[in-house]
Amino acid sequence: MNTILPTSTAGSLPKPSWLAQPEKLWSPWRLQGAELTEGKQDALRLSLLDQQRAGIDIVSDGEQTRQHFVTTFIEHLDGVDFKKRETVRIRNRYEASVPTVVGAVSRSRPVFVEDAQFLRQQTTQPIKWALPGPMTMIDTLYDSHYSSRERLAWEFACILNEEARELEAAGVDIIQFDEPAFNVFFDEVNDWGVATLERAVEGLKCETAVHICYGYGIKANTEWKSTLGSEWRQYEESFPKLQKSSLDLISLECHNSRVPMDLIELIRGKKVMVGAIDVATNVVETPEEVAETLRKALRFVDADKLYPCTNCGMAPLPRGVATAKLQALGAGAEIVRRELTLS
Ligand SMILES: [Zn+2]
Repeated sequence: MNTILPTSTAGSLPKPSWLAQPEKLWSPWRLQGAELTEGKQDALRLSLLDQQRAGIDIVSDGEQTRQHFVTTFIEHLDGVDFKKRETVRIRNRYEASVPTVVGAVSRSRPVFVEDAQFLRQQTTQPIKWALPGPMTMIDTLYDSHYSSRERLAWEFACILNEEARELEAAGVDIIQFDEPAFNVFFDEVNDWGVATLERAVEGLKCETAVHICYGYGIKANTEWKSTLGSEWRQYEESFPKLQKSSLDLISLECHNSRVPMDLIELIRGKKVMVGAIDVATNVVETPEEVAETLRKALRFVDADKLYPCTNCGMAPLPRGVATAKLQALGAGAEIVRRELTLS
């Protein structure tokens, strides 16, 4: 990247209301068949345009072609029965009816590769593509085949690696793995979580990122956060191991969160995607507020490694709010960029 402080988003952006019901997770599609395919592509282009107008440097598909950041990927795999459902606690936080692993899991066809090729055709800017991480995937399923969270995670890591290699070949510059489960299952993160992630990025030449967060601004997450006390030190558990890993970028939540900024010191040397936009409120940050978060982060991360970003995906937000937040991110990063070049 030639730009200093290159901006990007953690992932999802709201979909247009003609494509899916707004402000809702797992929102059903409003189109079908060929119309749905065309609608998803149109939405992707609009989402890209919003990012470009806001001055976002590393752009994404805004996750316009997927219903959910984990489930959509799993839907494309063999070995998972979506009709056979069990209720489990997701990230130890809320109950959900989830599909069952009934046999060996495998990927018989690419999941997002065509979508990534389409995005690649639309822009010459660097593009980032998000995939779910192995631990977050197993946490969204009931397993009646492997009877081991670790074994299933290793299987998913191999599948993710196949997909990631094809995304790289399609021209994706940064492949990001979403691992919010890393903020919950600390022993597993240390025992095999980071190792499975390393397996997922094996052999890749493009840059790789891991996004760890406190979740979307949905009720279950907001309630969980209120139990975490005055300081959120969860990153302390995963950062030392990630610092030693081969992952290039680490994406974390900063603005309006109770994460002590000095925890970033634990990943010194990595590129850090600093969340400067709160996704749990409709209040739009001012560019100056964004700038202030970035200035604070600069005490712990070198300027050439700081990537201003959002705390998490913005899919559940009203579309106008998300667009305004993108603009605040772009403008806030520009303020600090000017300060850095003048000093
Ligand atoms: Zn997130």
